[in-house]
Amino acid sequence: MSATHPPEPAETGVLTIDLTALAANWRLLAARSSPAECAAVIKANGYGLWLEPVMRALLGAGCKSFFVADAIEGERARAVSGEAVVYVLDGLAPGAGVRLVAANLRPALGSLDEIAEWGRIGRASGRKLAAALHFDTGMNRFGIAPRDAAQAAAQAEEIVATLVMSHFVSSQLPDSTRNAAQIDAFAALAAHFLSVPGSLCNSSGIFLPARPHLDLTRPGYALYGGNPTPGAANPMRPVVRLEARIVATRAIEAGESVGYDATWTAGRASRLATLGLGYADGAPISASGGAGKLAAEAVVAGVRCPFVGRVSMDFVVLDVTDAPQDAIRRGALVELIGDTIGIDDLAARSGTIGYEILTRLGARYARRYLGA
Ligand SMILES: *Cc1c(COP(=O)(O)O)cnc(C)c1O
Repeated sequence: MSATHPPEPAETGVLTIDLTALAANWRLLAARSSPAECAAVIKANGYGLWLEPVMRALLGAGCKSFFVADAIEGERARAVSGEAVVYVLDGLAPGAGVRLVAANLRPALGSLDEIAEWGRIGRASGRKLAAALHFDTGMNRFGIAPRDAAQAAAQAEEIVATLVMSHFVSSQLPDSTRNAAQIDAFAALAAHFLSVPGSLCNSSGIFLPARPHLDLTRPGYALYGGNPTPGAANPMRPVVRLEARIVATRAIEAGESVGYDATWTAGRASRLATLGLGYADGAPISASGGAGKLAAEAVVAGVRCPFVGRVSMDFVVLDVTDAPQDAIRRGALVELIGDTIGIDDLAARSGTIGYEILTRLGARYARRYLGA
């Protein structure tokens, strides 16, 4: 498949999503997870990269099980594949059961009440319905309490439990003692479900030295190029490239300021380039530089150039004084995310995490899907 949306000069940002790299990332995680099955988490519209092309590429790589957030995303996943196993992480929302059944989706049930309700819906439709049982071993966010495992097992006679799962609090910190505590807590509760496959690992969990892969792993972030091993080299291939177009250039004198509230003042005569993207496109305001805080950067002809002044709705201003001047043309594209600047780098300079950068990528970009 070639680029579906060639970048038009009219579009001020170009988002390129490398589906070949996405598929390669899944294969790497699947090999690391083996003999466990490797599923894929495609919630939040495929971590902002759009659910349908992402899911198609992962199916092509051999992925068979998927996790989405809610029934609406589940219906989209079902439209892509009639056969895929699709779990809904938000569980059984009151009243959503009919739609889950109609689209053959499996809720990750998060309470005894949800198990009972799924059982009732099954009786009404004349067959036991498949679901995951999600236990909460420390997040205190969503899931059945481990102390209710025996009762959950008894109630689960009324459904077809196809997965018992829990979620790590700190798997990105391999030295955290929470990991071993959760692995132990999970083993204890899973003893009530000996014939049901178990699942504990998100992306970072797959890389824990204890290898708690069990029967199925559930990576999300690493598929999309995020680093599952913060502090160590990123084993994943970059999937996202974000380029923004220069819409204006200017020269200013030392002492002049840039942007709303004049939060940056030039310390030297400077050259500026204005990019046609802003916080409305997902560039965080917190990517702006400030007292004691490094600004985010863009790559202009190989030179990293900092954001100066406050990010505004549709504009970011770069200090391009140190970049080759012939590269600084109106209409030229510069890299904000790509081979030089990873999503984790941009996130670190924006006081956030790469997950938030991905899931807030804006809707105005020209989107190009490469490969797969
Ligand atoms: C989002 C999510 C995942 C995927 O986590 P990543 O860190 O993106 O790999 C796995 N399991 C559950 C329950 C989740 O909510």
